[in-house]
Amino acid sequence: MSATQAGAALAARLPFEHRHGSVGATIRDEWRRVDAFVVMLATGATIRIVAPLLEDKGHDPGVVCVDEAGRWAVALCGGHHGGANALARRVAALLGAQAVVTTATDAVGAPALDQLPGFAATGDVAGVTRAMLDGRRPRIDIELPGWPAPALTSGPGPERILVTDAVVTATPGVAVLRPPSLVAGVGCSSDASAGDAGTWFADTLTDAGLDRASVAMVATIDRRAGHPAVRHLGLPIRSYGAAELAAVAVPHPSGVVARAVGTPSVAEAAALLAAGEGARLVVTKRASNNVTVALARRARPPGRLSVVGLGPGGPEHRTPAADVAVRHADVVIGYGPYLEQAEDLSWPGQMRIPSPIGEETERAAQALTEAAGGRRVALVSSGDAGVFAMASIVCELAPEVAPDVDVDVVPGVTAAHAAASLVGAPLGHDHAAISLSDLRTPWELIERRIMAAAESDLAVAFYNPRSRGRTWQLDAALDILRRHRKPGTPVALVTDAYRSEQRVIHTTLGEIETQCAGMTTCVIVGSSTTRMAAGRMMTPRGYRSCP
Ligand code: SAH
Repeated sequence: MSATQAGAALAARLPFEHRHGSVGATIRDEWRRVDAFVVMLATGATIRIVAPLLEDKGHDPGVVCVDEAGRWAVALCGGHHGGANALARRVAALLGAQAVVTTATDAVGAPALDQLPGFAATGDVAGVTRAMLDGRRPRIDIELPGWPAPALTSGPGPERILVTDAVVTATPGVAVLRPPSLVAGVGCSSDASAGDAGTWFADTLTDAGLDRASVAMVATIDRRAGHPAVRHLGLPIRSYGAAELAAVAVPHPSGVVARAVGTPSVAEAAALLAAGEGARLVVTKRASNNVTVALARRARPPGRLSVVGLGPGGPEHRTPAADVAVRHADVVIGYGPYLEQAEDLSWPGQMRIPSPIGEETERAAQALTEAAGGRRVALVSSGDAGVFAMASIVCELAPEVAPDVDVDVVPGVTAAHAAASLVGAPLGHDHAAISLSDLRTPWELIERRIMAAAESDLAVAFYNPRSRGRTWQLDAALDILRRHRKPGTPVALVTDAYRSEQRVIHTTLGEIETQCAGMTTCVIVGSSTTRMAAGRMMTPRGYRSCP
């Protein structure tokens, strides 16, 4: 939202929907529909607009104010739940401003109880937080054996933080952290109603003394995954085929069910399967007329490893999905400069493990092992996570090192694309990406691939062109291309694309000075059709020559 020209210019640099003018009216109209507002307006003016709209911090959107000069990004309200603190940091990173976060826990560098990844906080969160701000350390009691502690150190109390999935009576001075430790297995007949399932599910939890906030998902048989009775529970759904369910040993198999759906158990088997290795049933099957519920408790949290590409440089070229993956991680692992590249996404208590360059296998194994222990881990690389980076070694090792860990790969803008964008459109037609690092790939193989690219007239983006110890490879590669391309073929050397030290050199195959390339240079060599057009390097796609 902006009101002035200067404000509009700042807003234009942010990747959000932008409205100019009528700030007050727009905020009033959109208040309930929008997750958060970034307002290019003084805090005083903004307070006057939002004050009558505020309800409670669990529902209000976050509000961030940015001053006319773009020097400050102030998290005004909705710091945690509304996401304003994180948003202020992101806006500050994008504008080169300073984030102003006044939430007490953030200011003293303690993690906020209601922001701890992997837990939902209930109970006397405010009271315990106040005690922590006053310098007292609550005692942490984990009622779930084997469950990892939250990112806090336990102290003498008297306040307590209870980690449990059981129903707890509200007591002043006791905050409750709910882990996602339970999985509900649900089976139902085709005529079961959403209401039947909801009531039976709630009753089952109440009778067992377990809290709904700890139920991570429902598990069922494939044919019921879309059934309203299952969907209505409002939880993530995981479903399995009859054969998979039939293979699980359960306490109460049923011949009737087996004949009807091909597995002697749906609820118990699905709950156990979805809850993973070491899980056990805490509520065995409870059947009403048409709904069956069982509850399994996980032995540990489901580990998750996100292999994240951070893009070439600043946060404006990082995807929102990459931001989320890093912000939700308990542990961030990466080569030191990449950790710095994601510095603005860190939170107090997040563990950051720098690892030396070159030790990719060790780094991947370490990330998988951390995740297998039940943590949420982000393994960060620059550019794209799968291009000459960590994703492939993680996929290779995961089945051996950590078969139960959920691995996801979050893409990023790779160096070739970043570099290409800075010089024009040299990769506008078919092209190859080739790494010149012969540390793990024999030079003969690299050479063969360059020859193939040369012969097939592909534009080429060379990664890892040169380092202190590898000085001849780029010359050798260019010599191969020179056999097939004219000396006038455009070449670009782009170093540190989208970083503060960015350098772009336009040259040709005949005139390139290869010592200008370094560890962070991407070298783009055109094909036979690549040419310069008003200072831009471009490879035509043939639009203008096609009939
Ligand atoms: N996963 C990364 C590549 C890592 S290999 C990606 O997808 O971009 C390291 C090589 O990438 C460097 O030697 C350099 O050739 C290239 N590179 C990485 N970041 C770069 C940047 N900001 N500008 C230019 N080249 C870069």
